[in-house]
Amino acid sequence: MRLSHIKELNPFLRSFLYIISGDIAIYVGMELLNSESVDITDEDITENIKESIKGSDIDFEPNDSEILKLNTVRKTLYKLYSEKLAQFRRIRDKSTGWFIYYWWHEFDLFEEILLEKKNLIESKLRDRLQFEQNNYFFYCKNCQESNIKYNFDKAFELNFRCPDCGNPLEAQDNQSIIEYLKNKIGVIQNIKISID
Ligand SMILES: [Zn+2]
Repeated sequence: MRLSHIKELNPFLRSFLYIISGDIAIYVGMELLNSESVDITDEDITENIKESIKGSDIDFEPNDSEILKLNTVRKTLYKLYSEKLAQFRRIRDKSTGWFIYYWWHEFDLFEEILLEKKNLIESKLRDRLQFEQNNYFFYCKNCQESNIKYNFDKAFELNFRCPDCGNPLEAQDNQSIIEYLKNKIGVIQNIKISID
């Protein structure tokens, strides 16, 4: 049964669902959101979505005559589950012996999930930056034949001057990568995650 007042997904959450699994994830998300107060199975969700798209040209199964398969909804629910946005409990049906899966959303965790992803990206960028900085050398153009390289700490200690001829030390060309990474880290740090 459809509720007269339909709750809408937060736009960020909507986009995130779309990224996870396309339009079907948005439909599934809407069903979960609008069935907070009732027990809903993957079969109910499938039937509700089929009902809601009846008469439209939406077809989630373009390769056959069905418009939406239970299996497609199940796969989508498991994707939501693996992104920590949905949960289920299963109960064995005594008459058939099959499991019945009841699903609910955990959209309240969305902000936390985004924050986790943000921190993960930031730490990956920091690791990469550290790698570039540790493998970042200075050399003297004038004494190039000697092939002597200095890491950042050593070059810093030398005040970025060649100890042999006094010319300025030059940085190897991963400087642009380092700048790029520093920039990215700055951008990510400034992203404010707040879902309301
Ligand atoms: Zn030199």
